[in-house]
Amino acid sequence: MPTPPQTSDRPEQWLDLPQSQHLIDRRASEREQADWLQHVWGSPNTLVLRLRQRRAPVPAQPSADSPGLILQPPAGALPEGLVYLGAAREPELYGVTATDRDEPVHLLVEAAAEETEEDPEVSWVSLRAALALLEPFYLGLFTQALAISNWHATAVFCGTCGDRTVSRSSGWMRFCSSCSTDHFPRMNPAIITAVVDDQDRLLLGSAYQWEERRYSTFAGFVEAGEALEDTVVREVQEEAGVVVREAQYLGSQPWPFPAQLMLGFVARVESADTARPDDDEIRSVLAFTRQELAEAVSTGEVKIPLRGSISRALIEHWYGARIPDPQ
Ligand SMILES: [Zn+2]
Repeated sequence: MPTPPQTSDRPEQWLDLPQSQHLIDRRASEREQADWLQHVWGSPNTLVLRLRQRRAPVPAQPSADSPGLILQPPAGALPEGLVYLGAAREPELYGVTATDRDEPVHLLVEAAAEETEEDPEVSWVSLRAALALLEPFYLGLFTQALAISNWHATAVFCGTCGDRTVSRSSGWMRFCSSCSTDHFPRMNPAIITAVVDDQDRLLLGSAYQWEERRYSTFAGFVEAGEALEDTVVREVQEEAGVVVREAQYLGSQPWPFPAQLMLGFVARVESADTARPDDDEIRSVLAFTRQELAEAVSTGEVKIPLRGSISRALIEHWYGARIPDPQ
């Protein structure tokens, strides 16, 4: 049984999230240049991530020195639908080597052609599966690639006039020439919050749509015209029936399923004893001391979200350390 820390009161520390490590320089001014994709496509340092049905390629039999994702040099003519992701910061740290040391390592994403024959050396993984698998650099790359690809898939037609749009700015906007409208990638903000009471207990909820015994933090979409802190108050009231006294922002996680941005908070309430599940989405709510949560997780009595998710990071931020998974 792990000994839990006595306190987790460290407001200066933001969440430790693998996708939020700022390891790719998006080069926002360079990518505006009309011939930037052409230039990058011809660079000896360029590497391309090819996504297939929202999945990314990894070695089927990974070894200690194999890279996270399979990235390939450009081949053939400049393809349609290519997006510039950015330049890798310190690429050598992730096993990405530069041929030309004076040029940065540029990263691109394109949709992979449907292959008739499966390559036995390659496995295709979803971002959810990759959370437990990949280093932060590759996770950040996959997340960005999936988010922008999802947007392009839904933005082919102009939302104003319905005509066809074209990709511009190396894939970071789409333009409708019929009505001269610029369209930019859209994200849907959602809050996710730990709820902690005056006895420093953590309140978690279990949703009907999850397997039984699975507990997590509370979450919900930000509505039109709603401030984030109001969403925190509303969602906690709706799902757990307790009144939030104050809320503090701790960090965010892009969650491209298809376009969420999860904004993480810790909310303070007076007492978790008055909490009640809404009985619509939430089946049950439980308050835990650190000792109680560590015990419940180690015995399998309670399942908490996977490491790498913002909900797990919020729980461990309160806990003050990593909570070991059951053996
Ligand atoms: Zn239009």
